[in-house]
Amino acid sequence: MTQKIVIHERHGALLDAEEVGTVFRLLSENLPGRTHNAKGPKGQRTPFRSAIACLLSAQSRDANTAKATEALFALADTPETILELGDDEIREAIRPAGLYNMKTKRIRALCETLLVEFGGTVPRTRAELMRLPGIGRKCADIVMHFVFDEAVIAVDTHVERVCRRTGLAQGVNAGKIAENLAGRAPDWALDEGHFWLIQHGKRTCIARAPKCPSCPVERHCLARRTA
Ligand code: SF4
Repeated sequence: MTQKIVIHERHGALLDAEEVGTVFRLLSENLPGRTHNAKGPKGQRTPFRSAIACLLSAQSRDANTAKATEALFALADTPETILELGDDEIREAIRPAGLYNMKTKRIRALCETLLVEFGGTVPRTRAELMRLPGIGRKCADIVMHFVFDEAVIAVDTHVERVCRRTGLAQGVNAGKIAENLAGRAPDWALDEGHFWLIQHGKRTCIARAPKCPSCPVERHCLARRTA
């Protein structure tokens, strides 16, 4: 019979600085790190493509985001040319990513904002990126890290879960956790940290069935402490 794993999430509880460093070190020793040939927003070559792919990735699997992104960019791949497309053409191209009516509106709004407020060039700062419709903290951090090579850890659903359970960082939502984590992660972990945390969340610290007995950071994880 499979043993049921019990975890106790400790809302608001944080590891101390030394343990944060230890957890990142253990993850770095046990996981491969940067994903090459990533699908979806992380695999896009230009800031514009990355921003659009990230917008499309909301509530969509990587493979479906990749299909939608490729289909849209086969039709048009600049703000100007996308705005020349009809809504039906955009909707049909991005259908695999789901929520296509809302995403079509946001793509149009993003392209318009880029042209009107930023001269057609995707901005480099988080605050400016987050002024683009459909771009929240996670997408801004993905564009900054994966396209502009900034040292930031983007917090998606896997990273958020691992942070909450271990006590690496806390916050009321992914954006607040990203802020908290930015002030707590050691500098040497910022480049690969997103990959270690996401891989750990997908392989071991799984949402419904975490594999705590084989987890490399179990000794340090607050969700596994009984006192
Ligand atoms: S980090 Fe490891 S020990 Fe902690 S809940 Fe996730 S799988 Fe379990």
